[in-house]
Parts: sequence; structure tokens; C-alpha cells
Amino acid sequence: MIPFRTGIGHDVHRLFPGHELVLGGVTVSTDVGFDTHTDGDVLCHALIDALAGAIADGDLGTHYPEDDPESQDARSLEFVQEFAGYLRRAGYEIANVDAFVVLGTVRLRAHIDAMRHNLADALAVDAAKVSVKARSNDGLGPEGEGKACAAWVSVLVHPANG
Ligand SMILES: [Zn+2]
Repeated sequence: MIPFRTGIGHDVHRLFPGHELVLGGVTVSTDVGFDTHTDGDVLCHALIDALAGAIADGDLGTHYPEDDPESQDARSLEFVQEFAGYLRRAGYEIANVDAFVVLGTVRLRAHIDAMRHNLADALAVDAAKVSVKARSNDGLGPEGEGKACAAWVSVLVHPANG
């Protein structure tokens, strides 16, 4: 039996007018975006949280501290790529990733495939192993009203030799 390990990740950031909205490394053209120390890519952040959780090795913040000047204006997709390398050096492979992004005011469907391929490339896995879905929250809550954007990610990993 393969000793699979599961991980879950979540992130949410506020949206502000006049900022860039980057999700899964894709810049979504809209009039609101994240105002954070990095590009605020909640999908990438939740993915790293899930991967770290799967190997019981801290979270996004322990690996990429918010007060680290090196992460200022960083592209979060590069952190995903870096963390996937870290995971492999720890002896694990990624079985699959399933994610959803919650935002009620921007149609994300046209960008989903680009997000999937960006994440798959960064993780160095086949795109067939990466699922990204979009939810509107039916207009409810800060995500539904477009005041924030959230992401949830579930991952499954296994030992490379398992
Ligand atoms: Zn974040």
C-alpha cells in the first residue's frame, strides 16, 4: 500500500481598486487586485500551505516569512516551483492537486486552463494532475461581494519510491 499523505491549504486576501489580480501566476484583467507584500496570489499561497501540510513541515509563513525583504514583490509562482523542489528533496512526489478559487465579481473560467498549466509547470507534474475550479459564492460574503479573493487547495503526495 502506498503511504499517501494529504494536505489542505487556504488563503484569503483583500482586494483593492487599482491593483493587480494574480491567480495561479495568471494576471486577470480587472479593476481590483491584491495589495500585499508579494503578488498576493492566494492560489499559489494556499498550494504551498497544502504541500507543506502534506509533509507536516510548517506552512507558507515558516518557509516564506512575510517580513523577508527577498519576498517583496516576488512572483508567488516561483515560490511554488521552489517548494516543489524542496518537497522532492524531502523524498516526495505529488500525486494530484485539487483547488478552487472563490471570487464573486470576476469571471475566472477563461483563465482556469492557464492557471492549471502554470501550476503544473511550476510543480513539474502533468497538467492532468492539477485541477482548478472557480466559485462565485453566489454573491455571499466578502469573496462573493468581490471585497476579497480566497483559495482552497487539497493535495495528495507520496514517497518517491512508494
Ligand atoms: Zn497569501
